[in-house]
Amino acid sequence: MSVASAAPRPACDADVVVVGAGAAGAATAYHLAARGWRVRILDAGSLPRPKPCGGGMAASVQRLFPFDLSPAVDRVITKVRFTWCLEDPVIAELPGEAPFWIVRRSRLDHLLAEQAVGCGADLLEATAVERITREGDHWRVHNSAGGWISCRAVVIADGARSAFGQPLGLGSPQPRYASAVAVEVDAEVLEPSTAHFEFGLVRHGFSWIFPRQGGLSIGVGSFIGREPLESEAVLARLLPSFGLPPDSGERRVSPLRVWDGHHRLHHDAGVLVVGDAASLVDPFLAEGLRPALLSGTRAAEALDRWLRGEAGALAGYSERMRSEWGQSMAWGRRIAQVFYRLPRVGYQLGVKRPTAPRRIAQILSGEMGYGDIAQRVIRRLMFNRSQS
Ligand SMILES: Cc1cc2nc3c(=O)[nH]c(=O)nc-3n(C[C@H](O)[C@H](O)[C@H](O)COP(=O)(O)OP(=O)(O)OC[C@H]3O[C@@H](n4cnc5c(N)ncnc54)[C@H](O)[C@@H]3O)c2cc1C
Repeated sequence: MSVASAAPRPACDADVVVVGAGAAGAATAYHLAARGWRVRILDAGSLPRPKPCGGGMAASVQRLFPFDLSPAVDRVITKVRFTWCLEDPVIAELPGEAPFWIVRRSRLDHLLAEQAVGCGADLLEATAVERITREGDHWRVHNSAGGWISCRAVVIADGARSAFGQPLGLGSPQPRYASAVAVEVDAEVLEPSTAHFEFGLVRHGFSWIFPRQGGLSIGVGSFIGREPLESEAVLARLLPSFGLPPDSGERRVSPLRVWDGHHRLHHDAGVLVVGDAASLVDPFLAEGLRPALLSGTRAAEALDRWLRGEAGALAGYSERMRSEWGQSMAWGRRIAQVFYRLPRVGYQLGVKRPTAPRRIAQILSGEMGYGDIAQRVIRRLMFNRSQS
């Protein structure tokens, strides 16, 4: 009599488990699955899901993907308006062809995840990861229902509140958070191609008013100091200036985990941290989508080489993020520290200079980094402070 033996369990359930199907995680999963790796994406929520995010994004990120991102684009921005206390406007026409988009996050994240699934990745929704442990030569990713998945590598992409990187010595040991409030308002959009940045109303930060389909996406963010974000006082002035009642829209408070230094983003045994979990958000203009998509792409490239046996490939990811993003952010952080302490001077000497709108537009479109402008901007602001 023969006894049927249980089917042998493969060495690992997956090559890579990606924790989080936001912009960073879904981008990583897509690029890995497209290269033929067995990928599982685990997300605590279900897609498509809303996310507090202005959705402003440099169109240059299209270069990171071979498929069209335009189904996620709500508006194409051709003009940027800056104001100080809703007055003293500066208008900048964005150079080039449609360099700045407003994307709808529910669609962008879903589109990237669908592309990953189309290339063979498994998406497990409503599956919160609880723990990541090392078992022999592989990793186990445990979910809150008590199950686990074994894998050769893990990508930590669980966003601003991530808790998985620190125990592994990845990312910032003490993340720095900016406070932000997002308000989505249904309204008639009078200027569908104009993004508005208001600098005078918010202490140590700014407000953004982005057009979207059928309304406006409004945000208030404060980037230095620990004072409470007095967003209601700001919104009480901002919303009526757009013809809206001061209490319109639902307020959603969210942390922005801003770039706070060059950190190790890889563990040699096969763990990488990407997106907000890696503290990549621009500390001056709060741009988090571009670094999320860039880090996802670079992480997948490095993992692909590591899975094929190239030992030093993961260190290359930390290095690449340092040179392609961190070096510019180090200057962005210095600019933020000076600008948001002296915002009126910053507005007069920075934003109101004839060349400034074009420079800011070039930064937003990804054409230039902060390093290209920083020394001149800081010298100007510091010199003016010593004169006053
Ligand atoms: C108010 C506000 C406005 C913003 N506006 C802009 C803007 O206009 N332009 C811009 O570029 N950036 C903006 N940002 C920043 C941008 O939203 C983030 O940088 C971006 O979402 C980072 O993507 P991510 O994939 O790293 O994280 P997320 O998008 O946060 O994705 C993380 C994913 O992980 C999942 N997850 C979390 N914990 C677990 C767990 N334990 N197990 C499984 N899954 C888990 C979550 O469900 C989520 O899907 C804004 C942020 C805020 C707060």
